[in-house]
Amino acid sequence: MSQTDDQNEIPGFLYQWDRDQALTQDRCFLCGADLAGGRTDEHVFPQWLLRRCDLWNEKITLLNGTLMPYKQMKIPCCSTCNNEHLSRIEQAVGDAFAEGPEAVAALDATTLFLWMGKIYYGLMFRELSLLADRRDPQGGSIVSPEFLTTFRMHHLLLQAARGAVRWQKDQHPASVFVFQAQEPTDPRHCFDYVDIINFPFFAIRVGATAVVAVLQDWGALAQAVTVPAFEAARQLVLHPQQFHEVAALAAYMTTLFNRVPKHLLYAGENHVDVMTLPLQGMSTKFVFDPFDVGDYAQVLSHVTGQPLEELYDGRNIVTLLRDGDNQPWAVPWPADERQYPDIRLMQR
Ligand SMILES: [Zn+2]
Repeated sequence: MSQTDDQNEIPGFLYQWDRDQALTQDRCFLCGADLAGGRTDEHVFPQWLLRRCDLWNEKITLLNGTLMPYKQMKIPCCSTCNNEHLSRIEQAVGDAFAEGPEAVAALDATTLFLWMGKIYYGLMFRELSLLADRRDPQGGSIVSPEFLTTFRMHHLLLQAARGAVRWQKDQHPASVFVFQAQEPTDPRHCFDYVDIINFPFFAIRVGATAVVAVLQDWGALAQAVTVPAFEAARQLVLHPQQFHEVAALAAYMTTLFNRVPKHLLYAGENHVDVMTLPLQGMSTKFVFDPFDVGDYAQVLSHVTGQPLEELYDGRNIVTLLRDGDNQPWAVPWPADERQYPDIRLMQR
């Protein structure tokens, strides 16, 4: 046994960061296996999702502003990880999304974490192979290998997909929130996602279900604080723009999380056990920094694509989640109406 943090190696030989986190395209993104003997492609966004939401020819905007078809969002994977471990997860999650929010909320927490976490990591891994500036082949990739190594703890946790890592039953890496969502008529509008680059966070809306996940706060957002806007959101069937707001709020809260969780890693015979030390630790400091409305306004503006000055007047910030009496607000516009409402009328 040894106490360790993100900088240290895991005892044993089962999984080693330096050895097993692939930073090149010739290895499995998950287990790090050399793919010279055979490579399969793992879709970052699963095929069932691309089919259901008619996304094959739709394009995703990458970090450098390039547009790429969803069908080309694929990452190198060995056939065992792809066809056994990850397809088992896709099956369970795809079935649950077909049923709706209750079924998604009832999914095994680890399964849902791994599904969200794989998409989040996969997006970055895909960008690792793309030039930041296509006119400058020497200029490096959108995401650098060094940057990807800062997500080594996340990569370690993803190893749970292949049974190589486990954590204790009463400890879970993520705070996950499942909401009901309105379904626009056009299937392509029944899909949306929000991620942030510097901390594992991912939110996705598929059909009637929206899921927001802080992937590595070890439950702090779900357990340590009450966020009134989330409470309101739980009582609503979220309009697409309300989904944006919930995602922006959770993404911003993620950046306020002020702990680097410490873990004890035990190497077992066929897996590594992760035990997380209490977040509060010896410090009396609260696990979240104080909420700053101005900072949050910038995140909200980024996620919604609305100009900052239309959302925030320096004092008040727009919300679509609660009405003037602080009650959950059922946005009267249909989900097809994707325009942001005229919020100058709604400042509160
Ligand atoms: Zn593999």
